Amino acid sequence: MASRYLEPAIECRSRAAMMRWQSLRVREQVRHAAAHSPFYRRKFKEAGVKPTVRGVHDLARLPFTTKDELKENQASRPPWGDVLAVPLADVLRVHLTSATTGRPLAFLDTQDDWRGFYHSYARSLYAFGVRRTDMVMTAFSYGPWIGYWSGFQAAQDLGCLVFPVGGLSTEQRIDALLTYPITVLGCTPSYALFLAEHAARKGLDLAKDTKIRITWHTGEPGASIPATKARIESAFGAKAYDLPGLTEIAAWGFECDARSGLTHVHEDYCYPEVLGEDGRSVGPGGRGELVFTSLYRKAMPLIRYRTRDIVQVADRKCPCGRTLIAFEGGVLARVDDMKKVRGIIVYPRRIEELVRPHAAVDEFQIVFRRHEGLDDILVRVDPSPALSLAEREGLKGRLADALRTGLGLRPSVEITEPGALPRWDHKARRVVDERTEVPF
Ligand SMILES: [Zn+2]
Repeated sequence: MASRYLEPAIECRSRAAMMRWQSLRVREQVRHAAAHSPFYRRKFKEAGVKPTVRGVHDLARLPFTTKDELKENQASRPPWGDVLAVPLADVLRVHLTSATTGRPLAFLDTQDDWRGFYHSYARSLYAFGVRRTDMVMTAFSYGPWIGYWSGFQAAQDLGCLVFPVGGLSTEQRIDALLTYPITVLGCTPSYALFLAEHAARKGLDLAKDTKIRITWHTGEPGASIPATKARIESAFGAKAYDLPGLTEIAAWGFECDARSGLTHVHEDYCYPEVLGEDGRSVGPGGRGELVFTSLYRKAMPLIRYRTRDIVQVADRKCPCGRTLIAFEGGVLARVDDMKKVRGIIVYPRRIEELVRPHAAVDEFQIVFRRHEGLDDILVRVDPSPALSLAEREGLKGRLADALRTGLGLRPSVEITEPGALPRWDHKARRVVDERTEVPF
């Protein structure tokens, strides 16, 4: 029977039943971690807490887990650290997080852990409208990043015809899109724009020349930024969806086909807490840091893991009828991306929100720098080749106005020659902080 839910019994479960399930899983996960993970045994002991919880309301007694802690644990006890709570022989897969500084974190999964990861992902694809009759291209890089493998297996889990292109060049991928009846494409938002620009240079129009009807995007928050999403949708003549995920937790969220601007959470796989600055859970409408407790992974069962992502708890219901908790607009900011310029907090995502609506911008770069003795933001813009010199000047003025109004600061804007800025075939690195000289 046609349904908009892959698993209605879970996606539309009553709040009371969901909480009972989560409490059961949290109890079991904490017990498992305390019994089998040397890292967590130590951690609970050092914090002086009894490693038993009655349910989710009891979780706040337990200490947080941070990514720095996990990285340090693997550095001091190479190569896996001792979070691992199962025998190594039970581990099926290793993935590496996409670290921008230092050694990436190695994350281990059992067979069941892995099935959970890609199955929740499959549920998201289904919510986008992907069905077994679709042909799916996963255009992520083939390597230790979890994005490629989980997207591919999720589509396979739904029974789609899957087309693995991890190792193919952009040229070969475009050729495949023109040759085969591929209806769904998964990639980073930066890569979607890169692919479209590449095709346009060859005189192709992916909206007309391919059968793509749905695209989904992960690895970066671009598809939850309305102007970026609109640009992808027009390039492919398709509907674009955001799929936020974390190697360490799950492909935890999805926007549904009601396209209401809400991001649902796979709460049966990971228990979310959204904590305000005072460390307490915020209510509907409140913003805070997202903290997850893994409810299904046995190899590395993370408890109260600080994601460093800022989200806002929705205070409205999604018309799709799902009862899963939802966030307003996906991940709104990453704490680690926050910059201070003359005392004002600036998130690169906000700059993207202001730059992307300008259709004549093909690519951009954000430079935080010291300029004439003061902190300054320079936004470099790579214009469409069709623009005349006078039009470039006009664009520069409009961008400067939009940035000044949107940020409450006066950033410098520079228009480069068309094609001068780097393009990104995986995750983009559009931000450079010359003040610390640590690009990220
Ligand atoms: Zn919905």
